[in-house]
Amino acid sequence: MADDVMEKIVSLAKRRGFIYPGSEIYGGLAGTWDYGPLGVELKNNIKALWWRMFVQNRDDMYGMDAAIIMNPKAWEASGHVSGFSDPLSECKICKHRFRTDQIADPKVCPDCGGKLSSPRQFNMMFKTSVGAAEDESSVVYLRPETAGGMFVNFKNVLDSLHPSLPFGLGQIGKAFRNEIAPRDFIFRSREFEQMEVEYFVRPDTWAEHFEAWRKAMWDFIVAIGITKEKVSELEVEDGDRAHYSKRTIDFEFEYPFGKKELYGLAYRTDFDLKAHSDTSTKPLTYAEESEEPFHPHVIEPSFGVDRTVLAVLTSAYAEEGEGDEKRVYLKLAPMVAPIKAAVSPLLKNKPELVTKAREVYLALKKEVPQIMWDDNGNIGKRYRRQDEIGTPFCIVIDFDTLGEKPELTDTVTLRHRDTGEQERLSISDAIARVKDATVLR
Ligand code: ATP
Repeated sequence: MADDVMEKIVSLAKRRGFIYPGSEIYGGLAGTWDYGPLGVELKNNIKALWWRMFVQNRDDMYGMDAAIIMNPKAWEASGHVSGFSDPLSECKICKHRFRTDQIADPKVCPDCGGKLSSPRQFNMMFKTSVGAAEDESSVVYLRPETAGGMFVNFKNVLDSLHPSLPFGLGQIGKAFRNEIAPRDFIFRSREFEQMEVEYFVRPDTWAEHFEAWRKAMWDFIVAIGITKEKVSELEVEDGDRAHYSKRTIDFEFEYPFGKKELYGLAYRTDFDLKAHSDTSTKPLTYAEESEEPFHPHVIEPSFGVDRTVLAVLTSAYAEEGEGDEKRVYLKLAPMVAPIKAAVSPLLKNKPELVTKAREVYLALKKEVPQIMWDDNGNIGKRYRRQDEIGTPFCIVIDFDTLGEKPELTDTVTLRHRDTGEQERLSISDAIARVKDATVLR
């Protein structure tokens, strides 16, 4: 059943233009995915809501967009060059490679039963080189997380905006990891996006800020339309945490292929600012008036964009009825739905209906840009098509709109995706309704 749901989501995502396999016409490239016309809208809406909630709506947060390629010393300081690795085992028979900690028996190949090599540490950072020379001095990495770009700009932001503690930096952007075994659709890929916060606090206040961010993460989970009951917290045990972290909570989601990490929340102590201060020899410290300068401590809420997209799609996927009556719909939160409303003339071969519908379409599009014109097939088919991509509203222009029943002149039918209910509203009320339900807050 679970595989079945996953198959349905992957197939719908491809068929309707949400997500395609990367470089598909060349046979694909493992661990890469391309977002299509609807997928990019969904993803942009998710990122916009995150930015609104965690950067724009708060006085203590500042946005950033740092370079993906950084001076490699930054990754030496953070410990990624020496330690950002997973254990890798290779089958001596079929040569398939596995992440040793993800297979049942570390000695036996899950594919052919052959003997596995003993594990070796495999660094997951993608290496490339800058400039014309390709030698050791030109080696750089594609960032494996967005965090580094924020730590190295701590002092810049302090100098330009003079925030007082506590304050944080937020960033959304691509990250790259040469995963040994990319799998489960967009859950584990080699190129993905993160939305991260580095929140700087006084050392003795870390616990209260950790709690506040924990709550803020739940608020986001609910706002974005992820089924709350499918999310649970996992307190990461001492031995399993990164050495610098004093507390980590993983937020896990019940994906169709199992309960897996959706987000992470970590208390990173003063590890990062200290390490970058030491390596760069620039003091990344903070002090107020007569205070001794110190390295602020860090709370890091980390969100994967693609894992959010998959959790949102899984939460939204719904089926109703049987056979010809079967209806598939995505009950996406209107704020994240890729298309907010579809506008249709009841019949496409009646020019007077088409002209009026076009007028309504343009008036609505001025207020809410993510609107679709849909005049293909009959109304029932149009509703089904819009349901399948999660469009919360359909607006239909008919002869009553044109004044066939004078009291209904300039009114339209507004149909709701989840219930199938229809209302008769004035054009301006229908536009206001769509705008109100879909605007970011
Ligand atoms: P995992 O244990 O699943 O490999 P992680 O603990 O290494 O994940 P973090 O380093 O905490 O992940 O990264 C922060 C967030 O980035 C994760 O919570 C997840 O949402 C996202 N993320 C990490 N790796 C990937 C990936 N390969 N593909 C998609 N998203 C990812």
